[in-house]
Amino acid sequence: MPRVQAPIGADTVEVRATIGTIAFKETQTTGVGIVREENDPENIKLRLPKGAEHTNRVGELVATKLLADRTLSSEKLTVELDSLHTVKDLTINVSENELRGYLGVPNEDLVRATVASLRYLRHEPVIVWKGDRSPNQRDEAASALADEGALQQDTVEINTEIANGWTLSGANLSCLTQATAYKLVRRHKSKGYAERRQTTVNLKRIEAMAQEKGEANLKATQIWGSIRSKDITRSIRNFLWLVIHDGYMVGDNWLKPGFNAEYQERSKCRQCGQGTETMTHIIEKCSASGQAQVWNLARELWGMRTNKPWPNATLEEIILSTRPTRREKPKGKMLDNAEGEARLLRILMTESAYLIWKIRCDAVIKHEGQQQATGIEIHNKWLKTINSRLELDSILTRPKYGKKALKKKVVLNTWRGTLRDEGNLPRDWTGRYGVLVGIEPRSKDGRRRGR
Ligand SMILES: [Zn+2]
Repeated sequence: MPRVQAPIGADTVEVRATIGTIAFKETQTTGVGIVREENDPENIKLRLPKGAEHTNRVGELVATKLLADRTLSSEKLTVELDSLHTVKDLTINVSENELRGYLGVPNEDLVRATVASLRYLRHEPVIVWKGDRSPNQRDEAASALADEGALQQDTVEINTEIANGWTLSGANLSCLTQATAYKLVRRHKSKGYAERRQTTVNLKRIEAMAQEKGEANLKATQIWGSIRSKDITRSIRNFLWLVIHDGYMVGDNWLKPGFNAEYQERSKCRQCGQGTETMTHIIEKCSASGQAQVWNLARELWGMRTNKPWPNATLEEIILSTRPTRREKPKGKMLDNAEGEARLLRILMTESAYLIWKIRCDAVIKHEGQQQATGIEIHNKWLKTINSRLELDSILTRPKYGKKALKKKVVLNTWRGTLRDEGNLPRDWTGRYGVLVGIEPRSKDGRRRGR
């Protein structure tokens, strides 16, 4: 694996860690062993928690991230792994994965977070595939430790938080060589973290829009807090976070000095061919991304719930839809109806925006701008997205979630008026299977292809 060595000083300590894993899907058990030296007290055994995906890959990623997070600035880390796939996702695939917004990468959040942690290290880490060398005692020790880990009681917490903003530099530099990117990131790092210029611009825009809507002096910290709303799924939270940071490779980000003409060409919208493909263009303006159709569907469902006008779906409005509902009465109880409406708006805005982004990535990356989703596909994709979100709401009311369970009242209030055949549903439909919103899927107008 071609890697570039960072300068190593006399004070640099080389740390080599070998990872072993054992995973049983059936019993939801994964053990992980990390061996630095044989019989070293710093060797670690772990067991993945219930609810995790129990695969060797997840075990390897969790271990690598843990190692990276524990590596000191004086240490240079080498990690040895079994899975070539994991090794690639932490090395040569990084640029491509970032370019594609990690679309289709299994365990996306965990891979992204692990890459961020590795990137944060002062000395560039080395990731080694065990298959490139002959097996040794350390491998055996790691496997034995993994077996022990699988049997222990305590489980480790899987942390997919991005270590810090530095992953963004990587995203924006994704088409430079790793070596150059690392150098630049390190240069930035030595200057300390400063908020990126575009982040400030975006925050200012959101604040201005909030002011226009009657919420003066909205602070950046409040915005960051809002996009962590429990009403939106984790992938969408990440999406919004990267949108505010301008962290995706779109538009002007391709025009930075040092990018060749072929890359610079990517700044233009490859779907409609009109102008720079900024996130605003994709979500609000593109005539070919399907965004208009998606927003029409969202507006249609909104119209089934309320007479209130549908807000213009700008990026600022989308972000602001995540703000907690304001109380309408002084002190008194929040109006259930207002809260339900706000929550529906939050869900429609954020799910629709994220869907538009995913459709765009499919068209531009998977099909290289040659194949766009049809109207029927977009209609049905949106419907599937919203129906799945509705189902998720129902599932989250189940008593097994204990204190974390969603209140049934909240769910019923959110979707009131929007459901198919709602008059015939029981008052509490959350236990029902197959409750759908009242927009019908579209079939391929009767013309079926024989198979
Ligand atoms: Zn366009």
